[in-house]
Amino acid sequence: MFWEKLRRWLTGFLALAGLQLLEAANQPHLATVSINGQPYISVVGWSSLYNLSSRWEPKSSELRLTNRWTHLEFKADTRRVEVDDVSVNLSFPVLRVGDRLYLALRDEETVLRPLLKPPRLPAGRKITTIALSPGHGGKDPGHIEGSRTEKYYTLQLALEVQRLLQKNGFKVIMSRSDDAYVSLEERPAIARKRGADLYLCLHFNSAGGAEAPQGLETYCLTPSGASSTNDRGNNGGSARTGNRWDHENLQLAYQLHRAILSEIDFGDRGVRHSRFKELALAEMPAAYIEGGFMSNHEDAKRIFSESGRTRFAAAIVDGIMAFKRLVERGQPE
Ligand SMILES: [Zn+2]
Repeated sequence: MFWEKLRRWLTGFLALAGLQLLEAANQPHLATVSINGQPYISVVGWSSLYNLSSRWEPKSSELRLTNRWTHLEFKADTRRVEVDDVSVNLSFPVLRVGDRLYLALRDEETVLRPLLKPPRLPAGRKITTIALSPGHGGKDPGHIEGSRTEKYYTLQLALEVQRLLQKNGFKVIMSRSDDAYVSLEERPAIARKRGADLYLCLHFNSAGGAEAPQGLETYCLTPSGASSTNDRGNNGGSARTGNRWDHENLQLAYQLHRAILSEIDFGDRGVRHSRFKELALAEMPAAYIEGGFMSNHEDAKRIFSESGRTRFAAAIVDGIMAFKRLVERGQPE
């Protein structure tokens, strides 16, 4: 377990170093083919941009790409890609034609590119003030499991994240610090007025039924041209716009998701896209964590215990720090 964590951290740092070198290289033209009316590109052709070497497993229709800094796994007929063992949802399925895998060009633009060529903040801009939005509150309890309300546990988690962020020198803005109801429109407005550089919503899931799902979901605003993850079959996303932080949003969600999975034994339900109102209204990089299912026994142990929350909050703060390092690189300390 320790070595696995160490390996993940190291690959993260090395990815940064390597990608800075590759940024200088010219992007050759990517040949597109039309499949189901969508422009697609060959995954292997695309991978040469990043000096990734490929291994194709025809029986399982899996393609593994690796270079010194990162590894990716694509599988035909799924809408997912594994990026350094972290699951990231795509808008369109990866398709197999003969012995080749094809990736939608939109997914290259909205998911793969921002992950492999991380954005940088404009010179002089830093991540110093974090807005936390604990889900629900007051008249809105969120999910209810027995006597437990989501609004109470999102606040407890947010207070712990606030404490740890302040200990690390961040300024923190809370959309609520007690059991108050603040509207979905007001929360990002508070963050903007008080100059937040980053916006984070905290929630927990719940779902009954035989499926009894568990695990972590981390959302960013559906980027321009992409489809929302929970919106299966609706590929008409291009009519809707994301915002000017599309690349930062994706990278923030990824860094949070990855940090949490590397520190906590959580099911991986992937980095996802959504048009949640708060994400759409936020005027700074923003992400939304669904930190497990209150309805699932394993997840509930983590959500409802103080020790579980403390570990979870520490992992969230590590994710924020990883994002900060990434987007501020090249700037003086
Ligand atoms: Zn919620």
